[in-house]
Amino acid sequence: MIRTRFAPSPTGFVHVGSIYQTVIYYGFAKKNNGKFILRLEDTDKKRYKEGAEEALYRALEWIKIIPDEGPIYGGDYGPYVQSEVVKNGNRYKKYAYELLDKGIAYRCFCSSERLEKMREDQLKNKQQPKYDRTCLRLTEEEIQKKLDNNEKFVIRMKIPDNEYIEFEDLILGKISFYSNQIDDQVILKSDEYPTYHLGVVVDDHYMNITHVIRGPEWLPSTPKHVLLFKFFGWEIPKFAHTQLLRNENRSKMSKRKGDFSMEDLIALGYLPDAIFNFLALLANPNDKNIEIFDREYYINNFDLKKVPKTGPIFDTKKLLWMNGVYIRKLSIEELKNMIKPFISIDMSKKSDEYLEKSLQLIQERLKILSEADELLKFFFVRPEVKITERKDVVKDLINIVNEYANDDIMEQDIRKLAEKYGMKAGDVFMILRDIITGQSATPPIIPVIKVLGKEESIERLKVTIGE
Ligand code: GLU
Repeated sequence: MIRTRFAPSPTGFVHVGSIYQTVIYYGFAKKNNGKFILRLEDTDKKRYKEGAEEALYRALEWIKIIPDEGPIYGGDYGPYVQSEVVKNGNRYKKYAYELLDKGIAYRCFCSSERLEKMREDQLKNKQQPKYDRTCLRLTEEEIQKKLDNNEKFVIRMKIPDNEYIEFEDLILGKISFYSNQIDDQVILKSDEYPTYHLGVVVDDHYMNITHVIRGPEWLPSTPKHVLLFKFFGWEIPKFAHTQLLRNENRSKMSKRKGDFSMEDLIALGYLPDAIFNFLALLANPNDKNIEIFDREYYINNFDLKKVPKTGPIFDTKKLLWMNGVYIRKLSIEELKNMIKPFISIDMSKKSDEYLEKSLQLIQERLKILSEADELLKFFFVRPEVKITERKDVVKDLINIVNEYANDDIMEQDIRKLAEKYGMKAGDVFMILRDIITGQSATPPIIPVIKVLGKEESIERLKVTIGE
């Protein structure tokens, strides 16, 4: 049974890049009838942010990627929150001490000041910053003395010398690291919390994760993990490292730069299915040029080999287009319900039917739900009155509206009017559109007038000639 996981550290808002990754973990698991697991790696207390878990659950629920197992989803391998594992017997500590007993890990008593100084010196001498193994050389007696003095220590894994650590990455191919370039990584902190490296290996083992798929920033950590799996004598999962999304200017999208979070996308009125489709297309571009597809299509056609080896570009214009496609697929009833949270104009004086008719006209133009307020505005609020310079034209327009029989006749009447004044029909339509809506780009104006009604339309025309 294939098992993948999303193992975020709850450090604040949920970046769209994390959901891009998640779409891959989920796609791979589902394609193989496997399970997709959520695990919270919250052992770095300094980075933890209140409410971050809830933001994560909300984002996953919104995009409808529901983990098969996880903190609020249950499952046989819980707790799915690392801090809870620490509080419930702390298996990480047990495994760190196991390595200590076997001599493949050691206590390090170095103060942070000493480590900082060492690092600075190494950088000054153009050396790779790396622990200098001072504490590896301590004798048994020296260690005992420090323990008796209650000196604080961390546990470091001892990286073997002069070895190549290799693995087959399912996306990148064969990867090889030379062990002498790898730091003796701290695995257990002085407060007995695991570092990321120990936590991730122990939990991936405990949770039977078969495929560790994750972002490229974790690639340098993978040889350490491979070693830890070997040290423990555990089966090594398969690894696959993806690439990060990039902005249109090709820079990496990152949380720190304040690029899109899921909350931003939700607040702007993107639809969950559109975001899923958009990210899925980036995750698994297909050679058939099929761009609009549903989850089932994505899962059925998912192929890890198609996951891009360079960071896909997050093209906002394309996303807007795609969201528009999904908005046009909605029934008016669905659209009506979806725009509600985005509306600030007062609609209470108009009927539901009136709103539906207005929506029918703007649906075609709507790209994100948050624009609905602006696009619907003139149906509910009269535009600012400007006295027209073409009273003659407007007077005739009033008559035409008053005599409205059907759209075609009205259109012909307006064209005749343009001829009468030696104007372009488009310019007359522009005058009409401006007065009726106060906007320069709107749905076709005749259907708008029909929805607004004769009375209201004539009223809007009249005020501009001072009547
Ligand atoms: N906790 C890591 C993160 O914040 C997980 C990396 C991994 O998938 O191993 O993304």
